[in-house]
Amino acid sequence: MKITIRASLFAVRDMYVNACQNNCIKSFANIKNEIHFLFLSKQIMATDYFSKLSTAEKHILKDKGTEAPFTGKYNDFFEVGIFVCRACESPLYESNCKFDSGCGWPSFDDEIAGAINRYEDLSGGRIRTEICCAKCDGHLGHVFHGEQITKKDTRHCVNSLSIRFIPHAHLEVATFGGGCFWHVEKLFKMTKGVYLAHSGYMGGNTENPTYKDICKGNTNHAEVVHLYFNPKVITYQALLNIFWENHNPTTLNRQGADVGTQYRSVIFYSSDLQQQQAEKSKAAAQQQFENPIVTQIEKVQKFFRAEEYHQDYLDKNNLGSCGL
Ligand SMILES: [Zn+2]
Repeated sequence: MKITIRASLFAVRDMYVNACQNNCIKSFANIKNEIHFLFLSKQIMATDYFSKLSTAEKHILKDKGTEAPFTGKYNDFFEVGIFVCRACESPLYESNCKFDSGCGWPSFDDEIAGAINRYEDLSGGRIRTEICCAKCDGHLGHVFHGEQITKKDTRHCVNSLSIRFIPHAHLEVATFGGGCFWHVEKLFKMTKGVYLAHSGYMGGNTENPTYKDICKGNTNHAEVVHLYFNPKVITYQALLNIFWENHNPTTLNRQGADVGTQYRSVIFYSSDLQQQQAEKSKAAAQQQFENPIVTQIEKVQKFFRAEEYHQDYLDKNNLGSCGL
């Protein structure tokens, strides 16, 4: 149904009366869409956000198309930064809300406040919720609830062609292995100044290891937490202190009941300064332990993000700790 702007208020009123009389859900959905069209149309007409887009981008943002799954630039992408609308540059999603749903499109479990508009989408014989950029009304994808993949239980399924990534240049990276990554990740994630913390694998000799692979004990990968922090809020030295205070660095390839090289105590430094600070911090921490600290201090290597079910594991499963 199309209505013009001039006659639209009367048309929407008539639609509403008709929908009330017939108790028609589809009509209510149309009313909501048309009201939104009224308020946004003048703004969109005044600024043509779509003319500079490529044909493929227009197909998604303007014509509500969908890119093929597993083909988008940002599907398997976990850099730190912000995702903006490709049409109008409005900020939409922070990368610390991005997760791997396995669906083949970039997935986020939260949005930047006020960035997204939602519409009932009754196309294709299904009831779905379409998501669009709140500024330009460009089509992004759909949002789903109840899949229980993350704690927020929400999946914004977004086309890569709808968004553009801008890195957070103010953040620094740090990587720690201190036994089971569930516990270490939770510890750092709750630390003020830590923007995000991913559980994963580092230091081994295989590409794209799975949890099953590293449990065999022959990949030499360690369970690590790869985190990004704001050095203006928390220093690397403070992160090192948290590391020493929350695991036993004197047990070789072992934390509590967890035994194996995957559970080794290790710091992967990403700069000469971090290496110096880690070495100095290790010497200072030795004063707190009777036995020698066996923690390795190594140069950062390629990080492989662990399977999604390992991310935020303790909180997702309402567990306080993994027993360390
Ligand atoms: Zn936009």
